[in-house]
Amino acid sequence: MTGFAKLFFYLRMSLACAWRFRSPRVLLCASKFTGIFFRHKLLRLPSGEYKLDFYMPRYPSEAFFLAMEDKVVHCPPRPVSVVLSVTKACAYHCPHCYQRRDPSEELPLETLVENVRKMREFGVAAWAVEGGEPLLRFERLRAVLRELSGLEVWVNSTGFSAVPDKIAAMAELGVTGVMSSIHAVDPARHDAFTGVPGSQKTALDFLRACREAGMLTGFNTVLSDREIVEGGIDAIMEFAAHQEADYVQLIHPKPSGLWLGKSLDSEWGAKALETACAAQKRYNATGRKHDPILTAQVYEESPEMLGCCCGGIDRFYIGAAGDVQPCEFVNLSFGNLREVSFETAYERMRRAFPVPCCEWICRTRAAEIASAAGERLPLEWERTRELVANWKCGTPTPVYRRMGIYK
Ligand code: SF4
Ligand code: SF4
Repeated sequence: MTGFAKLFFYLRMSLACAWRFRSPRVLLCASKFTGIFFRHKLLRLPSGEYKLDFYMPRYPSEAFFLAMEDKVVHCPPRPVSVVLSVTKACAYHCPHCYQRRDPSEELPLETLVENVRKMREFGVAAWAVEGGEPLLRFERLRAVLRELSGLEVWVNSTGFSAVPDKIAAMAELGVTGVMSSIHAVDPARHDAFTGVPGSQKTALDFLRACREAGMLTGFNTVLSDREIVEGGIDAIMEFAAHQEADYVQLIHPKPSGLWLGKSLDSEWGAKALETACAAQKRYNATGRKHDPILTAQVYEESPEMLGCCCGGIDRFYIGAAGDVQPCEFVNLSFGNLREVSFETAYERMRRAFPVPCCEWICRTRAAEIASAAGERLPLEWERTRELVANWKCGTPTPVYRRMGIYK
């Protein structure tokens, strides 16, 4: 959909929000918020719904209106999404794993489910459920999915231990889509990254089976800055098109987890950022309707879009052991759900990140976190509290400033 048809679609969507919440103020606020996605390619789903953006629930689902309520009605605004790890168990050995240094004890299933219910009631509309490898602890994954009916739910999985029964159960439980890590077109390079021979084939077979079961599919791809500059995006996009994937989420390398303390190559960084942002615009452009949608995090987190939305602004993370973190790439705990309530940990986070800003916390604060960290991550609350006490997180994100919802 392009031109006037697309403009009309966006207008109708804002009107639908204003009507739904019986508020003319919402019309303006909703159009300012959704307007940032206008340049994205609209993905029309077989259900007749539309995806504006990878991170926004499909329109006009209940999850979409819940997300809009979070942002344009609720005061103070609430986060739209959570990344929830149900287990740390995983047979792979990726060098960048952000949760490999976390504790191994899993949050008891009862506590996990109780908190999932709480977060749902609190308005979290979009869920990325993952591990470790969530299929390895399928009873935990299934218990979580049962609580999320009707919402936007994505499962991040390598496909390891996938069998037809698990895939059928995920489809039956209403999983919107699945994402698998594909870090290279060449199977040998991908497998060398995960440390497991055959892992690329496992992921591709899994994605194909999920697509046949009616779920959306995508690649989670980490490319180095140099790979991006040297044409890595086009190569992975062509491969994703060949595999009939709907999305490629391009994740830039971040110094967290096993890579905490790693210095990133700044020489290539700026060029890679420019290349990835240009690629996102190009792959979303009119005339490329058969290509998968590219979602480059560096673009989605740019001042033009949502900036850094960690800390319960738009998103947060719950580790498998129950630690509430501002983002999966920020190894700080604002409390563990065995010890404090979700509400307490959430309030602590919101106090630390009161206003959405453009500074990428995962990069700019990594050195401080690394120097305060021991072997185990994330940093416990007492240490986190000292660290974040005086943080000022950069320039406010323009879209939220225009909406005037964070005071
Ligand atoms: S597959 Fe995921 S959880 Fe497993 S080692 Fe790799 S990054 Fe970590
Ligand atoms: S800390 Fe902010 S910029 Fe970094 S990944 Fe998380 S949300 Fe994105």
